Amino acid sequence: MRSPEHPTAPQLLRLWREVRSRPDLSPDISPLYPVSHNPDFPPGRQQSFLDIDTDGPYLHIARCYTDKELSPLTSLAPRSAYTPLAYFKYSQLTHFVRRLTSTAPVRFTMTVFETLCTMDPPPTHVLSSLYSLLLSSSQPKVPSYVSKWQSELPDPISEDDWGKIFSINKYSSMSLSVQLSNFKLLSRWYLTPVRLHRMFPQSTPQCWRCLADTGTYLHLWWSCPVLATYWSEILAHVADITGFKSGNSYHLILFHLVPLPVNTYKTSLLLHLLNAAKSLIPRKWKQTAAPTVKEWIEAVERIRTLEELHYSLENQYQKYFKTWFWWSEFLLKRSPPP
Ligand SMILES: [Zn+2]
Repeated sequence: MRSPEHPTAPQLLRLWREVRSRPDLSPDISPLYPVSHNPDFPPGRQQSFLDIDTDGPYLHIARCYTDKELSPLTSLAPRSAYTPLAYFKYSQLTHFVRRLTSTAPVRFTMTVFETLCTMDPPPTHVLSSLYSLLLSSSQPKVPSYVSKWQSELPDPISEDDWGKIFSINKYSSMSLSVQLSNFKLLSRWYLTPVRLHRMFPQSTPQCWRCLADTGTYLHLWWSCPVLATYWSEILAHVADITGFKSGNSYHLILFHLVPLPVNTYKTSLLLHLLNAAKSLIPRKWKQTAAPTVKEWIEAVERIRTLEELHYSLENQYQKYFKTWFWWSEFLLKRSPPP
């Protein structure tokens, strides 16, 4: 009768298949590497192969070594006399082990993961401990568009910073259209002249705004000369309102990589001002003109209205004022009340 499967086993095995090559879990030639029952060593699949005493259910490679040297037959399988077949099998074993270790040496110390797996009796909470080790060893998954950005950016973004970008973009605005716009920017959703040229070779790869440079994603969003005035005006206003000087860096503007803690930045006015500025770029995606400061103010106002509504419903006006005070001051300065 088949024993009932443990509920955590499938998840554990799935993770193991993902991370099995990580050396901190189990190196290529671990001390537990199987010699018997190993499909790569057909003679060793015989149950009686050399009749070597083993501690566990199978012969592992560390058992074939003494002081980090392959053990002689006399200590591996002590007998009073050996048949020619025994010598032949020992030669098969030494040939297999030497060929195996010619590329990677045997590691004789067990990892924490291997130790946990072999403890008898197993320690308490062994499954949770194994699962935590597997999770901490798994590589963070990054979407495929990250590598496209990395190949296009003059200064690639580190893995940690990508984590920060995803964390900020997940809750970057209460406005779903702004949130969507941010996600589309990150995921390179918009078609560029370069991409269209690859799909339709008769179309030009040049930027349709400036008609001079290659229309890459970064160019269309940031470095196009037609956008230069727009970005410099916006950033001057942003510096005036928030006191934050961006240094004209696309890392900060496009990717929200500001030198502030993520939670502080998420509740700052700066985030909304930059979101509004970016949301206007796709609105004029195939036009030759850049967005204007007036349009930017309207876009920020749409976000502010939504925030005001949200915080008033939540009865958290203090939070709203804390974020939006300097924006209101900016508007008053531009058009003082009569
Ligand atoms: Zn251009």
